[in-house]
Amino acid sequence: MGRIRLNTEKITKLGLIALAISLFVLMLRGCAIARGGYEGDSDAPTADGDDATVSIYNADTDKVYSLPLEEYVLRVTAAEMPASFAEEALKAQSVAARTYTARKMASLGGKPCGRGGADVCTDSTCCQAYRTREELSEKWGSSADMYFDKLSGAVSATRGVILTYNGKPIEALFHSSSGGMTEDAANVFGGDAPYLKSVSSPGEEGFSRYSATVSFTRKQFANAVNAAIKGADISKNKLEEQVKILSKSESGRVTRLQLGSKTVTGRELRRALGLNSTAFTIEISPERVVVSTRGYGHGVGMSQYGAEAMAQHGADYKEILLHYYTGAEIETIDLGEIK
Ligand SMILES: [Zn+2]
Repeated sequence: MGRIRLNTEKITKLGLIALAISLFVLMLRGCAIARGGYEGDSDAPTADGDDATVSIYNADTDKVYSLPLEEYVLRVTAAEMPASFAEEALKAQSVAARTYTARKMASLGGKPCGRGGADVCTDSTCCQAYRTREELSEKWGSSADMYFDKLSGAVSATRGVILTYNGKPIEALFHSSSGGMTEDAANVFGGDAPYLKSVSSPGEEGFSRYSATVSFTRKQFANAVNAAIKGADISKNKLEEQVKILSKSESGRVTRLQLGSKTVTGRELRRALGLNSTAFTIEISPERVVVSTRGYGHGVGMSQYGAEAMAQHGADYKEILLHYYTGAEIETIDLGEIK
């Protein structure tokens, strides 16, 4: 893997040249990769040519096929982030997607997902969200041409770019919205990734995913908790003494709380009640229990709405990535060298 760092201008220029070359090659081949191509993924062709390829297990069709890495990155980026987001935010997302994939590619020395023997799968709970071009066309409707162009531009502009730490692709986790401060990975997944520390994420306040409120009757709250958390046995008449937040992380997310005789994590209550995040407060009144959350998602790594806010304020994708992945480096891999 190359250790050469390039500046944005160079990368943009290289991206444009790469785009021009790949368009020319595609024209020559008459390949179906052009807009709307790969007619349905069940018969997606095995990629050929010089580019690195990624093998994909499609969990919907139970088939394995190969795609050029950059085509796969486009589809993941389009599935993971709204295409209406700013170009620099989409570029940042494409680098995160490529970095994640690099960690999974056997040809890069990564650890494959393994389902169907492939590098990655299309199940978002296991690997990354993924949409075929057909599915994207359907989702985007009359904006499809515009969005394919926009996504292609963002992906080509970052062609081969990944994030590394100590020369290895990082675990480029991301989430929808942090609610103002991202979370240290150690508080969510354990372990200690130096590039997944808590950082501020300003500018998210303007987006609808910044905060939410869920209101329960006391009985609904007790029933939902008791159904999901065995042994909690809380009673609607004793919530004031039975429900207590015990500790929070520095970013304000609940790490431990008391529910009756059980001590559970914030994540457990998040799952039990379907909350947007673990950055919650619980207000108990004589009639109701109101749970207010900030942010959406686990809060670790890049905040997508934070990236959008930074992009809207003029940050480029590198500034966005280096803000959220503290101490990581931006490198470019030579896709032609990987087989
Ligand atoms: Zn997988």
